Amino acid sequence: MILKDEVSKENAERLANAISGFLVQDGRWVIATSAKNNSVPLQFEDLVDRCLIFESDFQLSSKIYNPQKRAIKIGSISLGDDRSTLLIAGPCAVENFSQLEETAHFVKSLGVKILRAGAYKPRTSPYTFQGLGLDGLKMLAKIKELLGLLIITEVRDATHLNEVAEISDIIQIGAKAMYDHAILRFCGKSKKPVLLKRHFGATLQEFLQAAEFILSLGNFNVILCERGIRTFETKTRFTLDLCGVMYLKEHCNLPIIVDPSHAMGHAYGVPDLAKACLALGVDGMMIEVHPNPKAAFSDAEQQLSFSQFSQLVNDLRELAKATGREII
Ligand code: PEP
Ligand code: MN
Repeated sequence: MILKDEVSKENAERLANAISGFLVQDGRWVIATSAKNNSVPLQFEDLVDRCLIFESDFQLSSKIYNPQKRAIKIGSISLGDDRSTLLIAGPCAVENFSQLEETAHFVKSLGVKILRAGAYKPRTSPYTFQGLGLDGLKMLAKIKELLGLLIITEVRDATHLNEVAEISDIIQIGAKAMYDHAILRFCGKSKKPVLLKRHFGATLQEFLQAAEFILSLGNFNVILCERGIRTFETKTRFTLDLCGVMYLKEHCNLPIIVDPSHAMGHAYGVPDLAKACLALGVDGMMIEVHPNPKAAFSDAEQQLSFSQFSQLVNDLRELAKATGREII
Protein backbone atom coordinates (compact mmCIF):
# COMPACT_ATOMS: atom_id res chain seq x y z
CA MET A 1 0.00 0.00 0.00
CA ILE A 2 1.61 3.25 -1.10
CA LEU A 3 0.38 6.21 0.89
CA LYS A 4 -0.09 9.74 -0.41
CA ASP A 5 2.85 12.13 -0.19
CA GLU A 6 1.38 14.37 2.47
CA VAL A 7 0.35 11.63 4.94
CA SER A 8 1.79 12.20 8.44
CA LYS A 9 3.76 9.56 10.31
CA GLU A 10 1.00 9.35 12.96
CA ASN A 11 -1.69 8.61 10.39
CA ALA A 12 0.53 6.15 8.56
CA GLU A 13 1.11 4.35 11.88
CA ARG A 14 -2.61 4.24 12.67
CA LEU A 15 -3.36 2.60 9.34
CA ALA A 16 -0.42 0.18 9.64
CA ASN A 17 -1.67 -0.89 13.09
CA ALA A 18 -5.25 -1.26 11.86
CA ILE A 19 -4.21 -3.69 9.12
CA SER A 20 -1.26 -5.29 10.98
CA GLY A 21 1.13 -4.13 8.29
CA PHE A 22 4.79 -3.12 8.27
CA LEU A 23 5.26 0.61 7.88
CA VAL A 24 8.40 1.61 6.03
CA GLN A 25 9.68 4.93 4.79
CA ASP A 26 10.75 4.57 1.19
CA GLY A 27 10.54 8.13 -0.09
CA ARG A 28 6.87 7.91 0.84
CA TRP A 29 5.22 5.89 3.58
CA VAL A 30 4.58 2.37 2.40
CA ILE A 31 2.76 -0.41 4.23
CA ALA A 32 3.60 -4.00 3.41
CA THR A 33 1.04 -6.48 4.53
CA SER A 34 -0.16 -9.97 3.73
CA ALA A 35 -0.55 -10.46 -0.01
CA LYS A 36 -4.03 -11.80 0.75
CA ASN A 37 -5.13 -8.76 2.72
CA ASN A 38 -5.08 -5.54 0.77
CA SER A 39 -8.39 -3.94 1.57
CA VAL A 40 -8.25 -0.49 3.18
CA PRO A 41 -10.64 0.20 6.06
CA LEU A 42 -13.09 2.90 4.97
CA GLN A 43 -11.91 5.57 7.44
CA PHE A 44 -8.35 5.36 6.02
CA GLU A 45 -9.17 5.42 2.33
CA ASP A 46 -8.05 9.04 1.98
CA LEU A 47 -4.51 8.17 3.01
CA VAL A 48 -3.88 5.64 0.29
CA ASP A 49 -2.50 6.47 -3.13
CA ARG A 50 -2.23 2.97 -4.57
CA CYS A 51 -2.66 -0.65 -3.53
CA LEU A 52 -0.52 -3.20 -5.31
CA ILE A 53 -1.60 -6.80 -5.52
CA PHE A 54 1.06 -9.49 -5.24
CA GLU A 55 0.72 -13.16 -5.96
CA SER A 56 2.95 -14.01 -3.04
CA ASP A 57 4.83 -12.44 -0.14
CA PHE A 58 7.63 -11.16 -2.29
CA GLN A 59 6.69 -7.53 -2.33
CA LEU A 60 9.16 -4.80 -1.37
CA SER A 61 11.90 -6.64 -3.28
CA SER A 62 9.66 -6.97 -6.34
CA LYS A 63 9.87 -4.91 -9.52
CA ILE A 64 6.08 -4.67 -9.36
CA TYR A 65 6.55 -2.41 -6.34
CA ASN A 66 9.71 -0.66 -7.50
CA PRO A 67 10.81 -1.27 -11.10
CA GLN A 68 14.11 0.52 -10.49
CA LYS A 69 17.00 -1.49 -9.12
CA ARG A 70 18.15 -0.13 -5.78
CA ALA A 71 21.68 1.19 -5.93
CA ILE A 72 23.28 0.65 -2.54
CA LYS A 73 25.93 2.94 -1.08
CA ILE A 74 28.88 1.23 0.55
CA GLY A 75 31.37 3.92 1.49
CA SER A 76 32.02 5.72 -1.79
CA ILE A 77 30.87 2.74 -3.87
CA SER A 78 27.49 2.62 -5.54
CA LEU A 79 26.52 -1.02 -5.99
CA GLY A 80 23.89 -1.87 -8.60
CA ASP A 81 24.28 1.08 -10.97
CA ASP A 82 24.23 -1.20 -14.06
CA ARG A 83 27.54 0.23 -15.27
CA SER A 84 29.88 -1.51 -12.88
CA THR A 85 30.54 -4.91 -11.36
CA LEU A 86 31.91 -4.92 -7.85
CA LEU A 87 34.68 -7.30 -6.89
CA ILE A 88 34.83 -8.50 -3.29
CA ALA A 89 37.78 -10.71 -2.45
CA GLY A 90 39.68 -12.18 0.46
CA PRO A 91 40.26 -15.39 2.34
CA CYS A 92 37.49 -17.64 3.58
CA ALA A 93 38.53 -16.95 7.17
CA VAL A 94 40.79 -14.69 9.19
CA GLU A 95 43.49 -17.15 10.30
CA ASN A 96 46.07 -14.79 11.77
CA PHE A 97 47.08 -11.18 11.31
CA SER A 98 49.86 -11.72 8.80
CA GLN A 99 47.70 -13.91 6.53
CA LEU A 100 44.98 -11.25 6.56
CA GLU A 101 47.39 -8.37 6.07
CA GLU A 102 49.22 -10.04 3.21
CA THR A 103 45.96 -10.84 1.41
CA ALA A 104 44.57 -7.37 2.06
CA HIS A 105 47.66 -5.67 0.59
CA PHE A 106 47.55 -7.98 -2.39
CA VAL A 107 43.88 -7.51 -3.28
CA LYS A 108 44.20 -3.77 -2.72
CA SER A 109 47.13 -3.63 -5.15
CA LEU A 110 44.76 -5.04 -7.80
CA GLY A 111 42.17 -2.35 -7.15
CA VAL A 112 39.80 -4.37 -4.95
CA LYS A 113 38.00 -2.08 -2.49
CA ILE A 114 36.13 -4.58 -0.33
CA LEU A 115 37.89 -7.29 1.65
CA ARG A 116 36.02 -10.39 2.74
CA ALA A 117 37.05 -12.74 5.59
CA GLY A 118 35.08 -14.60 8.21
CA ALA A 119 35.83 -14.30 11.90
CA TYR A 120 32.84 -16.40 12.98
CA LYS A 121 32.72 -19.42 10.68
CA PRO A 122 29.54 -21.51 10.47
CA ARG A 123 31.26 -24.83 9.80
CA THR A 124 29.54 -28.08 8.96
CA SER A 125 31.60 -29.99 11.52
CA PRO A 126 32.21 -28.87 15.11
CA TYR A 127 35.71 -30.42 14.97
CA THR A 128 37.07 -28.07 12.30
CA PHE A 129 38.37 -24.49 12.58
CA GLN A 130 35.51 -22.30 13.80
CA GLY A 131 37.12 -18.89 13.23
CA LEU A 132 38.97 -16.55 15.58
CA GLY A 133 35.80 -14.81 16.75
CA LEU A 134 36.30 -11.41 18.36
CA ASP A 135 40.08 -11.54 17.84
CA GLY A 136 39.44 -11.99 14.13
CA LEU A 137 37.08 -9.04 14.08
CA LYS A 138 39.71 -6.88 15.76
CA MET A 139 42.20 -7.87 13.06
CA LEU A 140 39.70 -6.85 10.41
CA ALA A 141 39.18 -3.51 12.16
CA LYS A 142 42.94 -2.99 12.22
CA ILE A 143 43.26 -3.75 8.49
CA LYS A 144 40.45 -1.35 7.74
CA GLU A 145 42.26 1.36 9.66
CA LEU A 146 45.66 0.61 8.09
CA LEU A 147 44.62 0.08 4.46
CA GLY A 148 41.32 1.90 4.13
CA LEU A 149 39.63 -1.19 2.67
CA LEU A 150 35.93 -1.73 3.25
CA ILE A 151 35.10 -4.92 5.14
CA ILE A 152 32.49 -7.63 4.76
CA THR A 153 32.35 -10.34 7.40
CA GLU A 154 29.69 -12.81 8.43
CA VAL A 155 27.46 -13.29 11.43
CA ARG A 156 27.17 -16.90 12.51
CA ASP A 157 24.42 -16.45 15.09
CA ALA A 158 22.77 -13.81 17.24
CA THR A 159 25.47 -13.78 19.95
CA HIS A 160 27.80 -11.36 18.14
CA LEU A 161 25.51 -9.19 16.00
CA ASN A 162 26.56 -5.85 17.47
CA GLU A 163 30.27 -6.61 17.22
CA VAL A 164 30.02 -7.62 13.55
CA ALA A 165 27.80 -4.64 12.71
CA GLU A 166 30.24 -2.29 14.36
CA ILE A 167 33.33 -3.19 12.38
CA SER A 168 31.86 -4.31 9.04
CA ASP A 169 30.75 -2.13 6.16
CA ILE A 170 28.53 -4.95 4.93
CA ILE A 171 27.05 -7.57 7.25
CA GLN A 172 27.19 -11.00 5.62
CA ILE A 173 24.41 -13.44 6.43
CA GLY A 174 25.80 -16.83 5.48
CA ALA A 175 23.84 -19.45 3.59
CA LYS A 176 23.17 -21.51 6.71
CA ALA A 177 22.03 -18.39 8.58
CA MET A 178 19.51 -17.37 5.91
CA TYR A 179 16.68 -18.72 8.06
CA ASP A 180 17.92 -17.24 11.34
CA HIS A 181 15.21 -14.80 12.33
CA ALA A 182 17.17 -13.14 15.11
CA ILE A 183 19.78 -12.20 12.51
CA LEU A 184 17.24 -11.17 9.87
CA ARG A 185 15.34 -8.97 12.33
CA PHE A 186 18.51 -7.38 13.69
CA CYS A 187 19.62 -6.56 10.14
CA GLY A 188 16.18 -5.14 9.37
CA LYS A 189 16.53 -2.65 12.20
CA SER A 190 20.07 -1.72 11.22
CA LYS A 191 20.83 0.68 8.38
CA LYS A 192 23.98 -1.18 7.37
CA PRO A 193 24.19 -2.86 3.96
CA VAL A 194 23.47 -6.58 4.31
CA LEU A 195 24.62 -9.34 1.97
CA LEU A 196 22.10 -12.16 2.24
CA LYS A 197 23.34 -15.49 0.93
CA ARG A 198 20.88 -17.98 -0.45
CA HIS A 199 20.57 -21.14 1.61
CA PHE A 200 21.62 -24.09 -0.54
CA GLY A 201 18.20 -25.67 -0.04
CA ALA A 202 16.11 -22.54 -0.48
CA THR A 203 13.88 -21.83 -3.46
CA LEU A 204 14.05 -18.35 -4.94
CA GLN A 205 10.73 -17.61 -3.25
CA GLU A 206 12.12 -18.58 0.17
CA PHE A 207 15.29 -16.60 -0.51
CA LEU A 208 13.29 -13.49 -1.35
CA GLN A 209 11.01 -13.95 1.64
CA ALA A 210 14.08 -13.95 3.89
CA ALA A 211 15.08 -10.66 2.23
CA GLU A 212 11.55 -9.34 2.91
CA PHE A 213 12.11 -9.79 6.66
CA ILE A 214 14.93 -7.26 6.42
CA LEU A 215 13.14 -4.89 4.03
CA SER A 216 9.86 -4.89 5.93
CA LEU A 217 11.66 -3.66 9.04
CA GLY A 218 12.94 -0.67 7.10
CA ASN A 219 16.42 -1.60 5.88
CA PHE A 220 16.47 -1.38 2.08
CA ASN A 221 20.23 -1.93 1.82
CA VAL A 222 19.92 -5.59 0.96
CA ILE A 223 22.20 -7.36 -1.52
CA LEU A 224 21.32 -10.86 -2.66
CA CYS A 225 24.04 -13.47 -3.10
CA GLU A 226 23.69 -16.65 -5.15
CA ARG A 227 26.32 -19.14 -3.91
CA GLY A 228 25.14 -22.44 -5.29
CA ILE A 229 22.32 -24.77 -4.42
CA ARG A 230 22.28 -28.45 -3.62
CA THR A 231 21.30 -30.71 -6.49
CA PHE A 232 21.86 -34.41 -7.21
CA GLU A 233 25.32 -33.54 -8.55
CA THR A 234 28.27 -34.45 -6.35
CA LYS A 235 31.27 -33.75 -8.59
CA THR A 236 31.02 -30.05 -7.82
CA ARG A 237 30.37 -28.74 -4.31
CA PHE A 238 27.07 -27.08 -5.23
CA THR A 239 25.33 -26.06 -8.46
CA LEU A 240 25.56 -22.38 -9.34
CA ASP A 241 22.01 -21.37 -10.18
CA LEU A 242 22.53 -18.93 -13.03
CA CYS A 243 18.92 -19.37 -14.15
CA GLY A 244 17.96 -18.19 -10.68
CA VAL A 245 20.20 -15.16 -11.12
CA MET A 246 18.36 -14.33 -14.34
CA TYR A 247 15.02 -14.72 -12.56
CA LEU A 248 16.14 -12.34 -9.85
CA LYS A 249 17.43 -9.81 -12.39
CA GLU A 250 14.07 -9.86 -14.14
CA HIS A 251 11.73 -9.78 -11.15
CA CYS A 252 13.56 -8.36 -8.20
CA ASN A 253 14.81 -4.83 -7.51
CA LEU A 254 17.78 -5.73 -5.29
CA PRO A 255 21.40 -5.91 -6.49
CA ILE A 256 22.77 -9.41 -7.07
CA ILE A 257 26.21 -10.72 -6.28
CA VAL A 258 27.43 -14.17 -7.26
CA ASP A 259 29.89 -16.25 -5.25
CA PRO A 260 31.41 -18.79 -7.66
CA SER A 261 33.95 -20.02 -5.06
CA HIS A 262 31.48 -21.76 -2.74
CA ALA A 263 29.34 -22.97 -5.64
CA MET A 264 32.20 -24.69 -7.47
CA GLY A 265 34.19 -25.80 -4.45
CA HIS A 266 37.33 -26.20 -6.59
CA ALA A 267 39.65 -23.37 -7.59
CA TYR A 268 40.01 -24.63 -11.17
CA GLY A 269 36.44 -23.67 -12.07
CA VAL A 270 36.23 -20.33 -10.31
CA PRO A 271 37.89 -17.99 -12.88
CA ASP A 272 35.75 -19.08 -15.84
CA LEU A 273 32.59 -19.03 -13.74
CA ALA A 274 33.46 -15.49 -12.67
CA LYS A 275 33.84 -14.49 -16.32
CA ALA A 276 30.47 -16.05 -17.13
CA CYS A 277 28.92 -14.05 -14.29
CA LEU A 278 30.37 -10.83 -15.64
CA ALA A 279 28.92 -11.63 -19.07
CA LEU A 280 25.57 -12.20 -17.36
CA GLY A 281 25.66 -8.64 -16.00
CA VAL A 282 25.73 -9.33 -12.28
CA ASP A 283 26.23 -6.42 -9.89
CA GLY A 284 29.15 -8.04 -8.17
CA MET A 285 31.17 -11.12 -7.36
CA MET A 286 32.68 -12.45 -4.20
CA ILE A 287 35.79 -14.59 -4.60
CA GLU A 288 37.98 -16.39 -2.09
CA VAL A 289 41.72 -15.83 -2.33
CA HIS A 290 44.45 -17.01 0.04
CA PRO A 291 48.26 -16.62 0.17
CA ASN A 292 48.68 -20.38 0.39
CA PRO A 293 45.39 -22.10 -0.47
CA LYS A 294 46.63 -25.61 0.28
CA ALA A 295 47.30 -24.61 3.89
CA ALA A 296 44.02 -22.72 4.38
CA PHE A 297 42.13 -23.55 7.59
CA SER A 298 38.82 -23.72 5.71
CA ASP A 299 37.70 -24.10 2.08
CA ALA A 300 41.26 -24.92 0.98
CA GLU A 301 40.15 -26.54 -2.30
CA GLN A 302 38.35 -23.52 -3.67
CA GLN A 303 40.48 -20.51 -2.71
CA LEU A 304 42.47 -18.94 -5.53
CA SER A 305 46.21 -18.37 -5.19
CA PHE A 306 47.52 -14.83 -5.65
CA SER A 307 48.68 -15.58 -9.19
CA GLN A 308 45.33 -17.14 -10.15
CA PHE A 309 43.48 -14.17 -8.70
CA SER A 310 45.67 -11.59 -10.35
CA GLN A 311 45.21 -13.29 -13.73
CA LEU A 312 41.46 -13.34 -13.15
CA VAL A 313 41.29 -9.63 -12.31
CA ASN A 314 43.22 -8.81 -15.51
CA ASP A 315 40.92 -11.02 -17.57
CA LEU A 316 37.81 -9.53 -15.98
CA ARG A 317 38.98 -5.99 -16.71
CA GLU A 318 39.53 -6.92 -20.39
CA LEU A 319 36.20 -8.69 -20.63
CA ALA A 320 34.43 -5.82 -18.89
CA LYS A 321 35.32 -3.55 -21.82
CA ALA A 322 33.40 -5.85 -24.16
CA THR A 323 30.38 -5.93 -21.88
CA GLY A 324 30.28 -2.15 -21.42
CA ARG A 325 30.91 -2.49 -17.72
CA GLU A 326 33.66 -1.47 -15.39
CA ILE A 327 35.14 -3.66 -12.66
CA ILE A 328 35.20 -1.75 -9.40
C1 PEP B 1 31.69 -17.95 3.26
O1 PEP B 1 31.38 -16.97 2.55
O2 PEP B 1 32.85 -18.19 3.65
C2 PEP B 1 30.64 -18.93 3.58
C3 PEP B 1 30.67 -19.61 4.72
O3 PEP B 1 29.73 -19.07 2.61
P1 PEP B 1 28.28 -19.75 2.65
O4 PEP B 1 27.56 -19.11 3.79
O5 PEP B 1 27.73 -19.39 1.30
O6 PEP B 1 28.49 -21.22 2.82
MN1 MN C 1 34.45 -20.09 2.61
